[in-house]
Amino acid sequence: MLKGKTALVTGSTSGIGLGIARSLALQGANIVLNGFGDADAPKAEIAALGVKVGYHGADMSKPDQIEDLMGYASSAFGRVDILVNNAGIQHVAKVEDFPVDRWDAVIAINLSSAFHTTRLAVPAMRAANWGRIINIASAHGLVASAQKSAYVAAKHGIVGFTKSVALETATTGITSNAICPGWVLTPLVQKQIDARAASAGISLAQAQTELLGEKQPSLQFTTVEQLGGLAVFLCSPAADQVRGVAWQVDGGWTAQ
Ligand code: NAD
Repeated sequence: MLKGKTALVTGSTSGIGLGIARSLALQGANIVLNGFGDADAPKAEIAALGVKVGYHGADMSKPDQIEDLMGYASSAFGRVDILVNNAGIQHVAKVEDFPVDRWDAVIAINLSSAFHTTRLAVPAMRAANWGRIINIASAHGLVASAQKSAYVAAKHGIVGFTKSVALETATTGITSNAICPGWVLTPLVQKQIDARAASAGISLAQAQTELLGEKQPSLQFTTVEQLGGLAVFLCSPAADQVRGVAWQVDGGWTAQ
């Protein structure tokens, strides 16, 4: 379905980003990966699906590096047809203790990076009259939790940004939508399970059960394959008129 299209997925060396990259590649899209850590293994995994794959290690908190990334994607692949703004970090602390540098980093990576990639991707999407912008927000884009002020602010912000871009592109073939996962068992969440187990003196299994029980009524993690499936749907013609939505995949978290 996506043969000949190029998808840039930020923060795709692990977790949700890699899962979405895999799902899009399975539909034939060429993939530009980004993120920290080992890039060789994800690159090899995506290339094995028979699509063209590239990688750029831009730090998504740095606008000049994001410009480099977008320049690389358009020179190596022609154009970014599908932009998945996924890179994100978490920091957990009370607002009065929240380190200023962590606030700035969360806002830069989880919110401002999507502004920069989007502003740089939209002109070529307009020229082609086709594009898909998919922002990975969170249940925390719709409701809050204590001790996550920066993350909740950034995720609410990206839901609003998604809607504005959807309106600006409403008469074109470009759509802009957000996906709002609940808990997904990735390195980002594993760190929170580890911290919970350590501070409460409980086992990792118990910490995982408590984490799910607090927020996610299904008591099951959302999977990266489920998120990839929704991303593929948002790229399909059936989703041409899905514009500006914030779509929960959260096991009932925000239905409460
Ligand atoms: P993860 O930690 O597994 O992956 C994050 C990715 O972002 C990695 O590839 C990492 O290298 C990259 N990254 C981090 N900082 C970066 C930077 N400055 N520049 C470039 N890349 C950077 O996390 P994840 O759980 O897969 O999270 C992906 C997205 O999904 C995030 O936006 C997160 O907020 C969101 N999300 C996650 C969950 C969850 O439960 N895991 C739930 C809702 C939303």
